[in-house]
Amino acid sequence: MTATNAVAQSVGSIPQPIRPGHGGTDPGPRNVMRDIQNPDMLVPPATDSGTLPNLRFSFSDAHMRLESGGWTRQVTVRELGISKAMAGVNMRLNRGGVRELHWHKAAEWAYMLYGTARITAVDAQGRNFVDDVSTGDLWYFPSGVPHSIQGLGSDGCEFLLVFDDGEFDEDNTFLISDWFKHTPPEVLGKNFGVPAALFGHTPDPSARYIFAGTVPGPLSSDRIAGAASVTQPFSHRLMAQEPIRTTSGTVRIADTSNFPASTTIAAALVEVVPGGMRELHWHPNADEWQYYIEGEARMGVFGASGQARTFDYRAGDVGYVPFAMGHYVENIGTTPLRFLEMFKSSRYADLSLDTWMALTPPELVEAHLNLDPQVMGALRKKVAPIVPATNPT
Ligand code: MN
Ligand code: MN
Repeated sequence: MTATNAVAQSVGSIPQPIRPGHGGTDPGPRNVMRDIQNPDMLVPPATDSGTLPNLRFSFSDAHMRLESGGWTRQVTVRELGISKAMAGVNMRLNRGGVRELHWHKAAEWAYMLYGTARITAVDAQGRNFVDDVSTGDLWYFPSGVPHSIQGLGSDGCEFLLVFDDGEFDEDNTFLISDWFKHTPPEVLGKNFGVPAALFGHTPDPSARYIFAGTVPGPLSSDRIAGAASVTQPFSHRLMAQEPIRTTSGTVRIADTSNFPASTTIAAALVEVVPGGMRELHWHPNADEWQYYIEGEARMGVFGASGQARTFDYRAGDVGYVPFAMGHYVENIGTTPLRFLEMFKSSRYADLSLDTWMALTPPELVEAHLNLDPQVMGALRKKVAPIVPATNPT
């Protein structure tokens, strides 16, 4: 909570758009619930300026598609207009629930949020992949590669999908039942070398998109005899990675350096301790699509030309940082903050403000900013960044 927000909240129990000497009460109409959740929107830091586009959209504001085997919702460029490079889907599969065999034009990256799932895929070389994934695991299905997902265990699973195209639409994927439904039975008969009369019973595709199924046997029972396996696994155990630890938190990075299959999405799972901050930095290669897993955060984004804007985030929210814009992410809650950063890139890369300044001749830096000598001294001692500059770039 910033000083300005503390002032805003002191006017009764309902926050008011007041900063000392500025603003005034809001007599309404107003959505107080939203105002309470977005203190930096109601009372922006005085340093905010200009008209940066909206950089926040909550999955709670997305259409929920309920099906017999679970549910799904999406945040794409249609919901969050700036998110042209990537789109996200949040999906729940009940125990046994199946996300139908399908493929799509975009590549699919995933983070398991809860439970366990069995995933299957076949690549263009005719090699197959079957694996069980659980909380914290990733998967990546390249563009056009057909796949399926099924909820396992006692309570199925929930996961986040990120696609390398903001225009992705989960209602526009290539479904196996849809293709059967729209191919003449004689053609199907000819294709499989059996009588055409055997076809015509395909369920309606809308009934199969996410459908209730039976939990399969152990992974070993789903191996296809005689099949060659993909050479680069489509899954990755992110939590098995030893995190990079700093005094402000931890980070685990997954890109082609350790998850070779994931050629178009690089990711970082960041944890920030209460009071800690993901330091001022930017990314020299791509837009950033964020998903907040737990805790409360605020992100300030600097967009050049004097533009800066601050947003608040909590679990289930999506954040976005356009290419090259400077930003920080601060834990403003009392519990750990955990969020994911995804980039449409084969490699993770970032530059921090303090690293830049510490590795530039001090007189030159000094000449720009009139900094107190204490700041320059602290730079040399190096405040602990969450993502050290020694990371692969
Ligand atoms: Mn898919
Ligand atoms: Mn970032």
